[in-house]
Amino acid sequence: MKIESYNPNSKQKIGEFEKTDPSRVEEIVQKARQAHLKWNSLTIDKRIDFLKKAKSILYRNREKIAKLITEENGKPIFESYSTEIIPTLSLFDYYIKNSKKFLRPHYERIKLPVMIHKKSWIEYVPFGVVGIISPWNYPLLLPMGQIIPALIAGNSVVFKPSEWTPLVGQKIKEIFDEAGLPENVFNIIFGEAEIGKALVESSIDKLFFTGSTKVGKIISKAASEKLLPVSLELGGKDPAIVLADADLDRAVYGILWGSLMNAGQTCVSIERVYVDEKIYDNFLSRLIDEIKKLTPYSNSEFYDYSNIKLTKQVEIIKEHIEDALSKGAKILYGGKIENNFVQPTILIEVNHSMKVMREETFGPVIPIMKFKTIDEAIELANDSDYGLSASIWTKNISLGKSIAKKIQAGSVLINDCISHFGAGEAVIGGIKMSGTGRVHSKSGLMEMVYEKYYNYDKLTWQKKMWWFKYDKHSTEKIKAATEFLFGDNLLRRMLSGLKVLPALFKKH
Ligand code: NAD
Repeated sequence: MKIESYNPNSKQKIGEFEKTDPSRVEEIVQKARQAHLKWNSLTIDKRIDFLKKAKSILYRNREKIAKLITEENGKPIFESYSTEIIPTLSLFDYYIKNSKKFLRPHYERIKLPVMIHKKSWIEYVPFGVVGIISPWNYPLLLPMGQIIPALIAGNSVVFKPSEWTPLVGQKIKEIFDEAGLPENVFNIIFGEAEIGKALVESSIDKLFFTGSTKVGKIISKAASEKLLPVSLELGGKDPAIVLADADLDRAVYGILWGSLMNAGQTCVSIERVYVDEKIYDNFLSRLIDEIKKLTPYSNSEFYDYSNIKLTKQVEIIKEHIEDALSKGAKILYGGKIENNFVQPTILIEVNHSMKVMREETFGPVIPIMKFKTIDEAIELANDSDYGLSASIWTKNISLGKSIAKKIQAGSVLINDCISHFGAGEAVIGGIKMSGTGRVHSKSGLMEMVYEKYYNYDKLTWQKKMWWFKYDKHSTEKIKAATEFLFGDNLLRRMLSGLKVLPALFKKH
């Protein structure tokens, strides 16, 4: 059986792949487990050397890979650079530079006096075989954001790219093959939901899923049956709040980009806009001026937004617009839908009873509501099942920061949106229905390991005072120890200490 890949703009078939037989997944995972043992026995410096090679292969082939992303996903070549190639190279740099420091074992002194002669430390141990299931909308950046830290930490990887972008998935495989990674350390499996399910059911040690909330829930349920640790990066319904003092041009440019970049098919795209009523009319008229300047896909290399990749998504976008119109919304601009082309659309007079304000639209639709007070704006922004990201537009940074604290989301940007995906240091992840895990940053690396605790006792001859046997004498001692450790009277603490001290140095 084959999966075929299509360019959503030209509608032409650009490649096809043999699907992996789901019955083979466990065998692939087993081989990956063997490979992990060897991979993890290399020093971290050695593993980082392989990643340095992979980075330079990506850099050298950037033009070809950017073109491939544009062909398979539809996004403008500009965005293949700005939102895929550059952030991925930057993630390579971030993890190459920082991982050794983050994963260094460290000592933790135990301060409890009865354990003072213990030496303890923590090491970070890779899970083993990590499964990565990815969506199609950022087919290079999203999987790489998990593959890079997984490999550096010492895991082997079984990667399932989206069935809609298998060619970019294969390109990732070729990068790691060319970098000379030992056999079976990086593995790819092709196919649809069925092969993803087989991966969840296999003996992988941790799963990273990026995709829709709907599938995230199915995966979470299946994983909970066997207590498989999962990281879920799911959908969003990100709000933007525009305050009366905002730099209007910046807010308009930023929100337009944040809503329409990748034709709105971005997890952290702006999907709801709340504007102070004092600037509402000016905001709308500036937004219309700017939206008119955007160019849809044509045969030229330069366009601002593409067709919608999936036909089923066009149906959802259509449904959201129709639902809003049936409940009193108006189209201020756009609204044209033809096959997979959706014209950027501004909706006004929307409210929270409408799907377009509650469910992920994942398309080039900008629904705008006005608000009277900041408290009302915060309440509206938080009135959502999702909590991925949010943005606040204001010249008053301290006010922006105080609002940001009250917004329920995994990240909040002031006078910007989405760009944190390009910074290795930024923590990415959601709350509520937007998911559970964290990617990128130190947190994204720490998701690839578990903490393992060690200690040893320097007094190798000592019998611990808390071991058997319990009698009158030992019970008096444990009571004295409680007073010695936590009492609020200094003199009584010292007296209790004198009773406890001999027990701490008792030989067996
Ligand atoms: P999707 O959930 O349909 O598919 C994602 C991946 O899961 C694909 O590889 C698919 O084959 C696989 N899959 C589908 N059903 C499965 C099952 N039952 N078991 C195992 N695997 C299964 O999502 P999509 O349409 O590819 O991507 C769009 C969605 O992803 C949007 O909701 C978007 O918000 C979300 N997303 C989230 C983030 C984030 O970082 N939070 C980033 C990008 C996209």
